[in-house]
Amino acid sequence: MSAPSIETIVSLAKRRGFVYPSSEIYGGLGSAWDYGPLGVELANNVRQAWWRWMVYERDDIEGLDSSIILNRLVWKYSGHEETFSDPLVDCRECNSRFRADKLDPEYGRTEEMAGGTMTFLEFHGDVIDCPNCGKRNWTTPRPFNLMFQTHVGAAAEIDAALGEYEPSSLVYLRPETAQGIFINFNNVLNTSRRKLPFGVAQIGKSFRNEVTPGNFIFRTREFEQMEMEYFVRPGEDEQAHQEWIDACHQWFINIGISPDNLRLYEQPKEELAHYAKRTVDIQYRYFPEREDEERNWDELMGIANRTDFDLRTHSKKPEDAEGKRLNPDSTEDLSYFDEQTKQRFYPYVIEPAAGVNRTVLALLMDAYSEKTNDKGETRVILKLHYSMAPIKVAVLPLAKNKPEIVGMAKAIKRSLQPLVRAVYDDTGGIGKLYARQDEIGTPFCVTVDHQSLEDEAVTVRDRDTWEQERVKVSDLSAYIRERLSPLAV
Ligand code: ATP
Repeated sequence: MSAPSIETIVSLAKRRGFVYPSSEIYGGLGSAWDYGPLGVELANNVRQAWWRWMVYERDDIEGLDSSIILNRLVWKYSGHEETFSDPLVDCRECNSRFRADKLDPEYGRTEEMAGGTMTFLEFHGDVIDCPNCGKRNWTTPRPFNLMFQTHVGAAAEIDAALGEYEPSSLVYLRPETAQGIFINFNNVLNTSRRKLPFGVAQIGKSFRNEVTPGNFIFRTREFEQMEMEYFVRPGEDEQAHQEWIDACHQWFINIGISPDNLRLYEQPKEELAHYAKRTVDIQYRYFPEREDEERNWDELMGIANRTDFDLRTHSKKPEDAEGKRLNPDSTEDLSYFDEQTKQRFYPYVIEPAAGVNRTVLALLMDAYSEKTNDKGETRVILKLHYSMAPIKVAVLPLAKNKPEIVGMAKAIKRSLQPLVRAVYDDTGGIGKLYARQDEIGTPFCVTVDHQSLEDEAVTVRDRDTWEQERVKVSDLSAYIRERLSPLAV
């Protein structure tokens, strides 16, 4: 079983401290969310598992942490200033604003035609009703750039005479982490002495001024990406791309997501970004409640073959037919010299790009299950993979007014602390405490009872089976270590 809808997770997440609506005491800020005590642990587990898998367990990947605010020229040459936009239309009657391509699927579609590609730029406003007021009185679609603008330094001050910002102070918050990797290609290559193929991984925040954010943490304006740029020789790109698609799909299964709720989506040619040769998305069944099966799915991660576009566009060398430099601003050439073949070329790039937030959402939805106890009460159990569980062990005293039991339980919690994230809880009866831990996905509850004082043993209760086992306190660390997979610790 998994969650019947995102809504089920929204209330659980708030009630138990995974995710709260942001700025709530001031009325909130549309589509901004804060990660609470359990959410931050879950997101950390996602980041750590990805980093361990991507960087530590392979021999060919380095890590990087580049700036969020980069030189504006990065976004000029990456193409974002010109093309990273959504087409907007306004309803003249009720002033509602929509994405033209969402209202009219034909709008902006590109199609291969004999003699080149063709983009459909006619918005069929005469046959499209406003979803808000039902009228048909549209403005002409216009591009809306998704990059957040800000201004840096003293020059950021508004010029009193002009009432405008000094243009040279304009910068953007990065809309993807990838460009920070491309502009550091030579730095990483030279300092790590890498040879092709090799990759550079980065985890960090990205920002997009999404026109229609929503669906909880699925689409927000501030989010976090886990991206890796894998540089290969041209000609070796297609095989590497397929290997990364398979590996990423398997990774989501390894962290506990059911393969039934995952699928691969091959982006049709007309949907591809201008630089991409092929892109495959890994989709998750985020919307199981929708009747139309096709609309159950949406993107969890994208794996693109970006060709040599990025390294070439940021290089000072390439020239057009008339011998004019395509990038007169760059001071470096980001080509690669192959010692073996004595050839110089621009590597191709395979990019697996996943969202931390969408992974957290998929994990929560996938782990959601309900079970009825012998009193006929329905309990929520979050069957998270052990490696993802925010808390691995809860130590619970059976009697909180008995100092010896409390003392023993606290000592056990402390002894487990160096090994795993453990908590002590005595704020309810044992049934309630078990239910609480089930609901947040804690794999093991350790109960200290009167008998424990005599036989130096405790009861370990399993989250999924509710079975209990008696374990000697002296064996507890080894027991927990064995039950949790190596990934979990
Ligand atoms: P979408 O089509 O859903 O807008 P995208 O194709 O633009 O996504 P990419 O540019 O491929 O997304 O970014 C890589 C990953 O970053 C996505 O697969 C997703 O997990 C995450 N991501 C992108 N935009 C957002 C957002 N607004 N909120 C949360 N996560 C996002």
